[in-house]
Amino acid sequence: MPSEIDSRRPSPDVLLTVDVEPDCPPYLDGWRGVTKGLPWLIEALEQEGVRGTFFVTGQTAERYPDAIRGIVTAGHELGCHGHTHKRFGAMGPEEAVRELKDASTVLRAIGPTTAFRAPNLDFPDEYLPLLVEAGYSLDSSEGAHRLDHLFRRATRTMRPTPGLRRLPASTTSSVLRLPAALRDPWLARLARPVVLFMHPWELVDLRGENIRWDCRAGTEPRARDAVREVIRLFQDRGGRFGTVADWAAGMDREIVPDLH
Ligand SMILES: [Zn+2]
Repeated sequence: MPSEIDSRRPSPDVLLTVDVEPDCPPYLDGWRGVTKGLPWLIEALEQEGVRGTFFVTGQTAERYPDAIRGIVTAGHELGCHGHTHKRFGAMGPEEAVRELKDASTVLRAIGPTTAFRAPNLDFPDEYLPLLVEAGYSLDSSEGAHRLDHLFRRATRTMRPTPGLRRLPASTTSSVLRLPAALRDPWLARLARPVVLFMHPWELVDLRGENIRWDCRAGTEPRARDAVREVIRLFQDRGGRFGTVADWAAGMDREIVPDLH
């Protein structure tokens, strides 16, 4: 990440994160999100002047390398979302190591990849050191919206993983598609840094698919409007959008005093 730019900019406090994967896994197996939703999103973010972080599965990058290169050339951060989108909680340690290695090989051929988010936010605590060994310095696999979050965070505070910064997601992706009158007061109350969370497949029309209601409701037109509405909601409140690497660089500056 460009540290010269980081040192001049205030740290971001609103982080748009996007999980790039097949359509609504494991219920569907198409790629309309990547082929249609992702190009729309990259263009919309350029128009809004917002940089985000895209957690991509290795298999997505194998299948659509040009689309994933487009994320990097547009100035966004590339992150890892596993290789196959299998839950890490269902893997033994050897399989987890292989999954990280396979994804990292594909993604790092495209761009620097130092942030990680587990599929379904399912990542066993005992595997956290595997992330550091695989070259990751930030994990965003925790969901702050979960009821057990406070307890889980307390547990983790007692057992930090050296070399790994944690940045929980603040919302589920379906929250962004709620009617603005319900969504906006709730979003405005979230503690900063706010970590917003969405998928390119929400930006294509899945309303006729036989999937869970909260996955299909509000896809395409509603979700596309929501992206712009939510960006403006935070910008109007002084929010500074950036990548997770920008945020981590800001945390590092707070810890190491500036001696100039
Ligand atoms: Zn996912």
